[in-house]
Amino acid sequence: MVKTRFAPSPTGLLHLGNARTAIFSYLFARHHKGKFVLRIEDTDRERSRKEYEKALIEDLEWLRLEWDEFYRQSERFPLYREFAERLLSEGYAYACFCTPEELERERKEAQAKGIAYRYSGKCRYLTKVQIEKLKTEGRTFTLRFKVPEGQSVVFEDLVKGYISINPEDFGDFVIIRSDGTPTYNFVVVVDDALMGITHVIRGEDHIPNTPKQILIYKALNFPVPKFAHLPVILGRDRSKLSKRHGGVSVRYYRERGFLPEALFNYLCLLGWSPPNTEREIFSKEELIEIFDLKDVNSAPAVFDVDKLRWINGVYIREILSVDKLVNYAYPFLKSAGYKVEENYLKLVLERTRDSYDTLEDMVKRLKPFFEEEVEISQEMLSKLKQMRSKEIIELFLKKLSVFKPDSPETVKDLARKVTKELGVKPKEVWHTLRIALTGRLEGIGVDILLSTLPRERVENRLKYILSLLG
Ligand code: GLU
Repeated sequence: MVKTRFAPSPTGLLHLGNARTAIFSYLFARHHKGKFVLRIEDTDRERSRKEYEKALIEDLEWLRLEWDEFYRQSERFPLYREFAERLLSEGYAYACFCTPEELERERKEAQAKGIAYRYSGKCRYLTKVQIEKLKTEGRTFTLRFKVPEGQSVVFEDLVKGYISINPEDFGDFVIIRSDGTPTYNFVVVVDDALMGITHVIRGEDHIPNTPKQILIYKALNFPVPKFAHLPVILGRDRSKLSKRHGGVSVRYYRERGFLPEALFNYLCLLGWSPPNTEREIFSKEELIEIFDLKDVNSAPAVFDVDKLRWINGVYIREILSVDKLVNYAYPFLKSAGYKVEENYLKLVLERTRDSYDTLEDMVKRLKPFFEEEVEISQEMLSKLKQMRSKEIIELFLKKLSVFKPDSPETVKDLARKVTKELGVKPKEVWHTLRIALTGRLEGIGVDILLSTLPRERVENRLKYILSLLG
């Protein structure tokens, strides 16, 4: 059975790149009717924070990634210790007493010679007696993995193809730090093996770690899983996507009114393309059906916020049910301070959903539908005075008392009648009504606004403007 995992470190908000890793791992597991694991990698006590763990989980839930199993590495320390001891007793690891200062010196020497640093292996050959002596002296030590010499580690990556790395490039590496905490490369192997992970799907920045992990799998006699390293995500300037490019966390987009369905869909297109189709809009169920690692591109993917915005707009306009849209829109409108009544909101959204790409834009665009008091500037008032606004509004009010303006078509019809009867240009009627109702010259169609706003509000407003026009 296929089993994948997403293994975030709770040291910051969920990055778009990590969210994509989570999505691909999830889709791959679901496609194969397998299992998906969420594992919080919080062994780094200094950098891990509970509030980041909470935010990560919230954002994954928001993206609708359901996991079948959940683990937290900080709760598994005794287990790691057990396996470290096994490596030590079987001669795959050794205690290293080198101090940080000594190691720093080695590093500097390598730097001065212009060669890549790797640990000299000095403590590899300490005798039992020497080790005991150092321990009784109270010297702290790390545990290092003894990297076998003379053979490259080769593995077949499901995205990148065959990769070969010479362990001499990295040398003996630490698996248990001097404070007793285990390191990433070690715990990841113990966990992936014990959890039965069959496919390790993660960012390509982890390729250099993979040979270290393979050596540990072999030393512990665990089956080696398959690896798939996903291409890096770049900004539009083709440098690695980072804060410099603006928002890079799921939370950032979530707070700006991007929808989880749209973000999920868009992230899938970063590095993956569906076979034999130009289509770009897919539901989660469709993605589960068609997703395969063989269609993941090994070249970097470029994050394009305009494309994301476009996809978000498609979901708002065409895909979500109005009820769902109401649910998403409600908190945004509430936090903008608008008084929101459900049936009214439903009608407003039904009639305006093709006018914005994000919920943040929606809040701005829908202001005239919700604001109680509309300010009118001197500039707009004098614009009204330059037109035959008074007559237009008077006649319009008269017509409103006869016809119910309950659809954009009726409003258009009324405006046509007013235009004709007064012999003015259609533009004059629309401008007058728009300024009168919203205090602005642009925005969502007046026909939509007028037919949707409560009738009383329209009448009071028009009467108020008439009083200003004298
Ligand atoms: N905790 C690691 C990270 O966040 C996970 C790497 C892996 O998937 O093996 O990068």
